[in-house]
Amino acid sequence: MNHKARKRFGQNFLQDMSVIERMLSAMRPETGDSVVEVGPGLGALTLPLLARLDKLAVVEIDRDLIARLEAQQLHGLTIHPGDVMQFDFTALARELADESVDSPAARHSLRVVGNLPYNIGTPLLIRLMECQDMIKDIHVMLQKEVVDRLHAEPGTRAFGRLSVLMQSVFEVSPLFTVPPSAFDPPPKVQSAIVRMKPRDDAPDSEMLDALQACTRLAFANKRKTLRNNFKGHLDDNALSDLQIDPQARAETLDLPAFHRLAKQLRHT
Ligand code: SAM
Repeated sequence: MNHKARKRFGQNFLQDMSVIERMLSAMRPETGDSVVEVGPGLGALTLPLLARLDKLAVVEIDRDLIARLEAQQLHGLTIHPGDVMQFDFTALARELADESVDSPAARHSLRVVGNLPYNIGTPLLIRLMECQDMIKDIHVMLQKEVVDRLHAEPGTRAFGRLSVLMQSVFEVSPLFTVPPSAFDPPPKVQSAIVRMKPRDDAPDSEMLDALQACTRLAFANKRKTLRNNFKGHLDDNALSDLQIDPQARAETLDLPAFHRLAKQLRHT
């Protein structure tokens, strides 16, 4: 039975075995790992992952695809039907680590992998960022343009809110680019695979909230100066005290400057 790709679920199925192999050798899944795959689809990554793992959790929204996977009765596979945007990664990490309550074993244990549906790539990364203390690493395929934003440096066109948040929480390593021909149907844009690992000095949840609020203000209007974007929150003196030029634009600030701003906003 053929499956007709559904655009609303961002379905572009991987068909190039060499890309799948490269992705898996970058990830190095091993027996005993706690792994969750987002959007298994027709199983392009799922089956080779299962060949290397004793257990694998997958989250899939498309009922037809869920039924196809269920029919295969794959050993070690647990299917979580539903929207990954509502999925509780923290509970899964605990469950896979065999724990009902918070304890050190579940922390930084979960490995997230997937060829992500492009329509939810960025909001999903934000959700993963919010539960980073459960995550060991992330290996995902995204639009190349999003991967460029993830690891962009200050002062470049791609640098923005996503870059600041993700680089504050994760070590971001772009791995390789994947052409549209690797998928069926082919997407209109280039894709890329990225690895992200929580940083040892990742901000705690309070600081992360402050960083989210601070970057929302700083990048509210990319063409405006920081003086304008922080109006009503921080005045010129407060910005200067943080060694930040009120006339600068957000995309020119480095990460330590954003962290100084976030700390200051927490206290105002
Ligand atoms: N992993 C397969 C592959 O590489 O061929 C499919 C990748 S396809 C780009 C994205 C997959 O995510 C599809 O199976 C789609 O149904 C699923 N998906 C889309 N939106 C989802 C959501 N909100 N929650 C869970 N799965 C979703």
